[in-house]
Amino acid sequence: MIKAVVGANWGDEGKGKITDMLAEKADYIVRFQGGANAGHTIVNDYGKFALHTLPSGVFYNHTTSVIGNGVALNIPILFNEIKSITDKGVPKPKIAVSNRAQIVMPYHILFDQYEEERLGKASFGSTKSGIAPFYSDKYAKIGFQVSELFDDELLKEKIPRVCAQKNVLLEHLYHKPAIDEEELLNTLHEYRDMIAPYVCDVSLMLDKALKEGKTVLLEGQLGTLKDPDHGIYPMVTSSSTLAAYGAIGAGVAPYEIKQIVTVCKAYSSAVGAGAFVSEIFGDEADELRRRGGDGGEFGATTGRPRRMGWFDCVASKYGCRMQGTTDVAFTVLDVLGYLDEIPVCVGYEIDGEVTTDFPVTHLLEKAKPVLKTLPGWKEDIRGIKNFEDLPENCRHYVEFIEEQIGYPITMVSNGPGRNDIIYRKSPLSK
Ligand code: GDP
Repeated sequence: MIKAVVGANWGDEGKGKITDMLAEKADYIVRFQGGANAGHTIVNDYGKFALHTLPSGVFYNHTTSVIGNGVALNIPILFNEIKSITDKGVPKPKIAVSNRAQIVMPYHILFDQYEEERLGKASFGSTKSGIAPFYSDKYAKIGFQVSELFDDELLKEKIPRVCAQKNVLLEHLYHKPAIDEEELLNTLHEYRDMIAPYVCDVSLMLDKALKEGKTVLLEGQLGTLKDPDHGIYPMVTSSSTLAAYGAIGAGVAPYEIKQIVTVCKAYSSAVGAGAFVSEIFGDEADELRRRGGDGGEFGATTGRPRRMGWFDCVASKYGCRMQGTTDVAFTVLDVLGYLDEIPVCVGYEIDGEVTTDFPVTHLLEKAKPVLKTLPGWKEDIRGIKNFEDLPENCRHYVEFIEEQIGYPITMVSNGPGRNDIIYRKSPLSK
């Protein structure tokens, strides 16, 4: 059976920790979209790790870590990541890379930087990892598939064809040096040698595994609101962040996905530009940012401070619906223990009307938060194992949010570690 772990919001909900936890009972952990532009932070017995390409299950030796066809594969980054974990004493993980995954080319990263420079203040806040140029090329049918690395004749024909187009932009739009075709061919040969031991037909491998009754975990990157179709377009990422896309990005049957765990954080954070209705500023935001996550809310890839806000029931209800949520994992609840009162965004006021349905972007930009203030619990809840043992106001906070979003909160995370988890029977569970 397949389980998916995905985000309800803007990313950084704590998917890495939940995946790492669920990976204990999984055989394959598959990345199905996105690239090295976002990161997961994982804390375990080996130390603290920031992963950008490898799925979060690499720390177990019973799992195979899989890069699906939907991923934007940056081969040198994957390599450095494998090295960084084996250097810290983690046993060499089993890794499979789809022969249908496409490759982030060195020029994708340059185009990302040049375009953000060109846009200046109007930029999208890209992490400049080449993701948008990569996916543009994939759909313009000038991308390079991993399988193509092994066909030298194809490469020798394709490189000049692709470079002709890229070089026009480099020269006339960005006024930058042209791509050296020979150097590019050499780079692709290096990539081929680096990736060769891992390449396989991932879809076929997973099909066999499912027939043998194995468990496959799909690990999403970012969250619903960054989905190119259903998110806050154009301030989105370039591949679908939804569990449904897991079927495509891993090459599996959609009906095999039986459980969809949508991760929601107990407050909000976002990176990049775009409307963020429940955003807070100043000292209030600084304190939450400093106390947030495990060591503060700063980007795992960029180190930049995240934008902070109160929990947003409107965005999260929508975020859970678009994922097809069967279970909500509610994370980082322990962090809110310092607050006397906790505001929660329960509606959006748009042109004088209050709604709880998440709107399209141009209306979202006009939305003002309708806040309800709940009492805090002023206690450290780390180490608690049963929902009933949480302070009353803390339980009430979880129950209130569950009712607002309408999806069952079956897991509550009260610390960054693998075992900091409270399983809960939800009245909304089917
Ligand atoms: P992801 O991209 O969705 O995996 O999110 P991040 O990597 O940004 O994870 C959020 C941060 O919160 C990481 O530093 C985690 O270690 C940490 N974290 C996850 N769950 C909890 C929790 O329940 N409590 C605390 N304090 N930190 C958590």
